[in-house]
Amino acid sequence: MRERPSSAAAFERAKRSIPGGVNSPARAFGAVGGHPLFIARGEGPYLYDLDGQRYLDFVGSWGPLIWGHCHPAVQEAVEAALRRGSTFGAPCELETELAELVIAAVPSIEMVRFVSSGTEATMSAIRLARGFTGRSTIIKFAGCYHGHVDALLVAAGSSALTHGVPSSPGVPPGCTQDTLVLEYNDCQALADVFRQHGDQIAAVIVEPVVGNMGLVEPTAEFRQELRRLTLRYGAVLIYDEVMTGFRLAFGGAQELYGDHADLTTLGKILGGGLPVGAYGGRRDIMRQVMPAGPVFQAGTLSGNPLAMAAGLATLRLLQRQPPYAYLENLGRALQNGLQQALDTRRIPGRVQRVGSMWTLFFTAEPVTNYTTARQADTRRFARFFWEMLDRGIYLPCSQFEAAFLNAAMTPQHIAQTIAAAEEALDILAH
Ligand code: PLP
Repeated sequence: MRERPSSAAAFERAKRSIPGGVNSPARAFGAVGGHPLFIARGEGPYLYDLDGQRYLDFVGSWGPLIWGHCHPAVQEAVEAALRRGSTFGAPCELETELAELVIAAVPSIEMVRFVSSGTEATMSAIRLARGFTGRSTIIKFAGCYHGHVDALLVAAGSSALTHGVPSSPGVPPGCTQDTLVLEYNDCQALADVFRQHGDQIAAVIVEPVVGNMGLVEPTAEFRQELRRLTLRYGAVLIYDEVMTGFRLAFGGAQELYGDHADLTTLGKILGGGLPVGAYGGRRDIMRQVMPAGPVFQAGTLSGNPLAMAAGLATLRLLQRQPPYAYLENLGRALQNGLQQALDTRRIPGRVQRVGSMWTLFFTAEPVTNYTTARQADTRRFARFFWEMLDRGIYLPCSQFEAAFLNAAMTPQHIAQTIAAAEEALDILAH
């Protein structure tokens, strides 16, 4: 493993004043050992660390940077907004412009409310669904992550049909007792729960394509059952598109699959690299949000003009020059190249991908849910991660995270990544 003394020193210093040295745990390289890179700057598809090394960035700030780092249109929009003032605590037209663009992009969204993170978006959507239905129970799926909302920090109980138990100290059991945790893609369990608890279920929240246990696709049957059962029992179907929104298509997973959720949560790309989240959906539900309705939700920096400007610039670019077909081609080439590199070396592994989101799982079997994801060889992943890093390829530092392509990448970058993986896998094979 290459020495990175400046990052090592920066991490030691950070650990003295920031818990674990990071402001979000996924950044700490805990799952792969060693210390994180400290980043000096980004440019297009590249990150540069404090030790002056350049890396091809497949993390993209965990999803937002679909155009890569420092796209001039986004930077200029933020600079222009900054000159007019950083925050007003009063409405400005940029908020309506971005709302109109979101509504144009996602047909199921008739009204939208901006917040400052994906966590706030899912927290608010759950509260709204409960307020709208007058019910308390929510269903989530094991391995899906929806931010650090107390009610969603749950592990499955001992049986699939038991109520969730807190997955973090500090979350009282009362916060999770109304959360049911099911296995992803399990239509039978879903139907059973609705049969038993249907009239108490306020909402089902789901990642329509999962990024947070590594990349896992929904089956068509699962998506259809989600829609059928929520309609039948009057529960709110929440698609958490914080990661997939504007990434899998301009209209997110819902455009890709032709689905129609009741509420959608957004974040990441929506803010173009600045802190933004949003929840939106059916007008009759959204009209329950204060001050139009009684369900409380607020934010000092909600609809912040710098963040709105970054989001508008990012989304307008996506609308004018859709990169989706290009990213699909890059993604397919990468997937094929990596899969071939695994297969020719007889290393058990699967490259799972939808559009520009992908994961190389070190497991022979298809990964369809949290149970199968956890069968992956995480020690082998950790070795692969460091070999790739030493070859200038920056991957997510966990087996259970999706990697992202961005539109600043070229076919040469894909070839470079496959070549690096071939070398790394040669080392792993011996
Ligand atoms: N929902 C999904 C699907 C996510 O991937 C994330 C973050 O990774 C969140 C919600 C939470 O968003 P944030 O980190 O902006 O609070």
